[in-house]
Amino acid sequence: MIDCIFCKIIRGEIPSERLYEDETTFAFLDIKPLNDGHTLVVPKTHYENIFDAAPGALDAVMRIVQKLAPVIRDTVGAAGMNVNSNHGTAAGQLVPHLHIHLIPRFADDGYRHWHRETPTTPLAEVRQRITDAIYVAEK
Ligand code: AMP
Ligand code: ZN
Repeated sequence: MIDCIFCKIIRGEIPSERLYEDETTFAFLDIKPLNDGHTLVVPKTHYENIFDAAPGALDAVMRIVQKLAPVIRDTVGAAGMNVNSNHGTAAGQLVPHLHIHLIPRFADDGYRHWHRETPTTPLAEVRQRITDAIYVAEK
């Protein structure tokens, strides 16, 4: 049995405000919501994040994200939504079970976007390095 807080929520060992569940996917309210309706959608299979997830593991999760997004938006009367996911501690991932945040947004809720200090590496150089790696990976 995996000692993971979201696995325990999925198994019902820790209470949660469950919104939706099917064979592969579980959705529940974030315990510290940024706005009303802040939801987490997770695969029932434990993966830490996108880097160790099986190919296609996000397909079912994203189907449910798309299904729930308009329902949550309309229920809380939001104007928009951030669909966000953190992968790795450097990216702000606190809970090591793959999850997608649905964060309802209101026009004047005060949250700011990413700050925009851009690196100096030329875009073309970065593109070349990544496309080289993609084609190596495909061989
Ligand atoms: P992240 O930084 O993307 O890993 O975010 C993890 C999220 O999980 C945070 O927004 C937490 O508020 C949320 N969270 C942690 N524990 C629980 C819990 N027991 N029930 C619901 N949400 C939780
Ligand atoms: Zn887990």
